[in-house]
Formats: sequence, C-alpha cells, structure tokens
Amino acid sequence: MNERFEAPVAPHVKSPHRQAATGSWRTFRPVFEGDKCNLCLLCWVYCPDGVIKRGVDGLWVDLDYCKGCGICAKECKRGAITMVEESQNG
Ligand code: SF4
Ligand code: SF4
Repeated sequence: MNERFEAPVAPHVKSPHRQAATGSWRTFRPVFEGDKCNLCLLCWVYCPDGVIKRGVDGLWVDLDYCKGCGICAKECKRGAITMVEESQNG
C-alpha cells in the first residue's frame, strides 16, 4: 500500500483569524506530548489559525487565538496532541 498522503500547501500570508482573539467560548484546547512528537510540523501546516509555534522546548500553541477545532490532533500521525476540556488542568 502506498503510504504517501497529500499535504495542503502551507499558507503564504499570516492567517487573518489571528486578528481576532478567541475569548472564552473555546471548550477544548490542544495539549502536546513532547516525547511523542517528531517535529514533522504537520499540525502547523493544517492549523487553520496559524497559532502553532516552535520554540526551544518544542511546539506550543498561542491559546489567545486557538479556536479549539481539533484539526491538529486529528492530523498528528503520532498521537502527540490530545484535546482536553478547558475545565481540566493540563
Ligand atoms: S503533527 Fe504531531 S508529531 Fe508532527 S509536529 Fe505536530 S505534534 Fe509533532
Ligand atoms: S485546535 Fe485548531 S486552532 Fe487550535 S492549534 Fe489545533 S488546529 Fe490550530
């Protein structure tokens, strides 16, 4: 079986969604497990809001603008992103 997949073209401009802060309506947020992540950056490619960032300690999410859509968690092939309810710690 062919393991290739079609990745979308990465955005060439800043996402317009980042002009509007999310506020308090988000019900889930992504949490990264760094030991599972191989920094393939698929989540960064797919995030419609352009809020996944790369720092010295790995990836992080700008939660001021993350909409909690869960696309990053769905696309991660290594299960390194879990969507948790906002009411939970983590
Ligand atoms: S898609 Fe998953 S493995 Fe790839 S960089 Fe994102 S969290 Fe890491
Ligand atoms: S939950 Fe959605 S908006 Fe938030 S980082 Fe993941 S893909 Fe981006």
